Amino acid sequence: MSADYVIPAAPQAAIAVAGTTKTYPVRRIWCVGRNYIEHIREMGQDERLPPFYFAKAADMIVPDGGTVPYPTLTKDMHHEVELVVAIKTGGHHIPVAKANDHIYGYAVGIDLTRRDLQIASRDLKRPWEVGKTFDHSAPCGAIKPATETGHPKEGKITLKCNGKIRQDGDLNQLIWNVPEIISNLSEMVALEPGDIIMTGTPAGVAACVAGDVLECEVAGLPKLTVTIGQPIK
Ligand code: MN
Repeated sequence: MSADYVIPAAPQAAIAVAGTTKTYPVRRIWCVGRNYIEHIREMGQDERLPPFYFAKAADMIVPDGGTVPYPTLTKDMHHEVELVVAIKTGGHHIPVAKANDHIYGYAVGIDLTRRDLQIASRDLKRPWEVGKTFDHSAPCGAIKPATETGHPKEGKITLKCNGKIRQDGDLNQLIWNVPEIISNLSEMVALEPGDIIMTGTPAGVAACVAGDVLECEVAGLPKLTVTIGQPIK
């Protein structure tokens, strides 16, 4: 059935699947806040709270090799390198023990953040969207299927800016691990095929400026490199 849309439908957002010509269609982007102790400490927040979530739109993805125009409104855009989980099959009330069965694969992403605006909205008890949800705010590298990677519980997660290491963590530092996140998030929404989850960032978040090259790696996954471009006029 072809719908009788009154305006053009948006193109389907998608992420490359490593080693193939195929792509993974993205439906929604869920992000976990504060999931590494050292990052919680650098942000001065409570270390014992349950996970919480915010969202970005699928068309905010930037592929490996892409350029992120420096966004409007901010003077303090931070990088947050994160392990990305791509959901294959969804549902409500997914048990922790079954969560891995719902995963298609894994990738490396960056939760780009207008930190000045995020903190201002946090202090005003307003939503985080102005700080987190903006065009080009979700760079994501190619997805490697879980059939090839297994389900990593540990491994280095790093971000270099212009060749200098800025973030250097390990997946074993995740407070809420991937199955726990999938299970918990599936209480808030019915997860759907095409949903991806950015699982939180380790310590070392910092500002980037036009011309910076960000290189992100998680052990065993395809590298993600993006360049920060000139400011949006
Ligand atoms: Mn984040």
